[in-house]
Amino acid sequence: MARNTPWIILLCKFSDDPGTTALRPISDYVSFFAGNGPESMPSYWRDMSYGELDLVTGTEVTPWLQLPQKRSDHTGLNTRGDLFRWAKEAGERFGVDFGRFFGAVAFFAVPTDLFGTASEPHVVCDVLSCPAQIVQEYGHAYGLDHSSSVRNPVDYENPVCSMSSMTFGGDDEIFRQVNPTFATTWGPAGPGLCSPYIRKLGWLTGARSVEVRSNGRYPTTTTLTLSPLGDRNPPHPQVAVIEFDKPKRGTCCIEYRRGGWDRGIFYNPIVIHEVREDERAYYAGMIRPAKANVPPGGVLPSVPAGKWYVDPQYDFSLEVQAASGDGASVTLRVAPAAAAGTLSLRSIAAAKLNLSGQYSVRSQVLAGGNGSLRGRLVELLGQ
Ligand SMILES: [Zn+2]
Repeated sequence: MARNTPWIILLCKFSDDPGTTALRPISDYVSFFAGNGPESMPSYWRDMSYGELDLVTGTEVTPWLQLPQKRSDHTGLNTRGDLFRWAKEAGERFGVDFGRFFGAVAFFAVPTDLFGTASEPHVVCDVLSCPAQIVQEYGHAYGLDHSSSVRNPVDYENPVCSMSSMTFGGDDEIFRQVNPTFATTWGPAGPGLCSPYIRKLGWLTGARSVEVRSNGRYPTTTTLTLSPLGDRNPPHPQVAVIEFDKPKRGTCCIEYRRGGWDRGIFYNPIVIHEVREDERAYYAGMIRPAKANVPPGGVLPSVPAGKWYVDPQYDFSLEVQAASGDGASVTLRVAPAAAAGTLSLRSIAAAKLNLSGQYSVRSQVLAGGNGSLRGRLVELLGQ
């Protein structure tokens, strides 16, 4: 059964509001904050949680509430607490029973501020805020921090996670040119959350998640098929998880992003994240079509088989084995990092099987498994 988290939406006007900002009819705000439509806040969180989170039932939107304060009374970070309190007091005067709601949104009729917090869960946004930003503030209310990247471990550096909107890092060469959002009537929306944060909120459960065996230093060579992270009823797992304790403790998550709230990420990448002991998600890298094959805003074929990723921190690599013709799944081989380089038959055979000698090495290696020589060497590396 879905967890119900009703919100109260406080539509707020300052006393000096000149009334010149074009506002929508109240019914539009009801649709956006309390409705089931494809662009609504409840739909985003329903989809991120695979139906586990209900933001529709019990959510209410007030009429425009007149605040006694002026816009100029809010001067910056130092008055954010006051700003929310003014909105809450206006709600109380209107008769809102805040005890009935999980959280509160203060939506301002003029450009004011944008933030969210988990303590007394609340979101402050305004007429300039777009869905890609507002979902991040809801994310804070549900307990998430900003996401980041391995290469530049500061806030907003994750190119494929809504907890890095609206800059999305620009960490990836393609993301410097395009943005992972898509256009809606409320402005840019998407992308979804990265898999570490969906996992942290407890929604990547059961068959949605698969663990890749590891000795703490490198993974056992494993072939697995992933469905897109956003699919509601996937035939395959949506995240592959590898635990490491060398060279440091960390968890790596592998996900495939395509369609739905991720449709702005039009080249459908396979993305690798690291979760550190601070429980934040760090973008580590991705496998995607070559830059030359990326038409701006165009539709791409699936990531081609044979493309590699080597992790910058941990001893592992990924190779795309196959992508289904309709892009509905990708098959990957997870292996130690050395599998991504040039494989020496003799050195691997000697180290792993104590084999030596002449032509017989090849046939002895192949005799131990199925498939190609290269595939067998990668397999041996992971043992
Ligand atoms: Zn934020």
